[in-house]
Amino acid sequence: RALLGRLELQPSDSLLALIGMYAADPRANKIDLGVGVYKDEAGHTPVFTAVKAAEAKLLAEQPTKAYVGPEGDIGFFEGLAPILFGEAAPRARLAGLQTPGGTGALRLGAELIARNNPDAMIHVGGPTWPNHAPIFAATRLSLRQHRHIDLVTQELCFDDVLSALQAAVPGDAVLLHGCCHNPTGADFTIDQWEALGALMAKRGLLPFIDLAYQGLGASMDEDAAGVRIVARHCPELLVAYSCDKNFGLYRERVGALFVLAAEPEAAAVVQSNLLSLARANWSMPPDHGAAVVRLILESVELRAQWLAELDEVRTRIAAMRTGLAALDPALAFIGRQKGMFSTLPLSPDQVKAMREQHAIYMAGSGRINIAGLTPAKLAPLAAAFAAVR
Ligand code: PMP
Repeated sequence: RALLGRLELQPSDSLLALIGMYAADPRANKIDLGVGVYKDEAGHTPVFTAVKAAEAKLLAEQPTKAYVGPEGDIGFFEGLAPILFGEAAPRARLAGLQTPGGTGALRLGAELIARNNPDAMIHVGGPTWPNHAPIFAATRLSLRQHRHIDLVTQELCFDDVLSALQAAVPGDAVLLHGCCHNPTGADFTIDQWEALGALMAKRGLLPFIDLAYQGLGASMDEDAAGVRIVARHCPELLVAYSCDKNFGLYRERVGALFVLAAEPEAAAVVQSNLLSLARANWSMPPDHGAAVVRLILESVELRAQWLAELDEVRTRIAAMRTGLAALDPALAFIGRQKGMFSTLPLSPDQVKAMREQHAIYMAGSGRINIAGLTPAKLAPLAAAFAAVR
């Protein structure tokens, strides 16, 4: 037996297989709603003009490629904090650092929770982003799922969420999507965030908010409302932040982990733990993307340019949602949901029929990327949806 012979073959990423199938499909009318990146009306995932300008500046002015440090670009982190928490960010209680994407932030946050309390359970509403379970499993924390949404009615199951938190053990963590829920687009209302914040504070539960789409649902402030409400209720809070969608930086892997501690002394202890966990994982995060974000946030002009471009992204997604919702009462829910994703209530066979009979490609779960749509693709999608149901 080979020394590495105990390994078992792992399933490949089903979305990658979907990309292959889509590429091989000769039909001219094919529609790709699978991959999770923003696309403009021409089907491109463009680099923001503000990013190009910041990159040019970086290329011209970066004085060195010497190491940064395990905390990454501090200016990036400091620039992002008020965007997330508002100008009244509780800086003295705030720990955190730059991470390789939102994924790195989730992983580091999970490791922090596990180091503090290996018996903590993580509660999360399902369906959720498929990478949540493996990230938490890698830290050996147990994940417990409750129902976030009923896909048939597309109603958020808030009673199920509340019951799960009522039944949780004090010290457990609760993973919540800050906005633009992936894969359902079904976000909590302001009242629901208030109720969640109050309940988590009362029951001694640790909120861990995954915010990967700030600015893609509503305004930057509205998309951060959940985080800010929970921060008002709960003395401690983790936020895994991604800049990969709202700056269009995907492959540059730009994210940050924010941790609000109970008091400034505790924040210092948390910070030292984050630095040691980062050193053991990636030592230091990649610099380029975070430096680009910092340059954009530091410049009045580039910041305005970036926000205008992000506005275009959000407006296009919202227009596709409204357009699709208007075509069939059974799709009206799409208009009430936010962000890049919704999940159609389709069985795996129906998803297959969408692909084979109608050349419409989506994740096996029925998740569609709204940004894969254009005005011309709305009617074919609605017609195919009606035909397979
Ligand atoms: N959380 C959610 C809910 C996501 O959808 C994603 C990205 N698909 C991430 C985290 C990770 O983002 P990143 O690409 O920055 O690692």
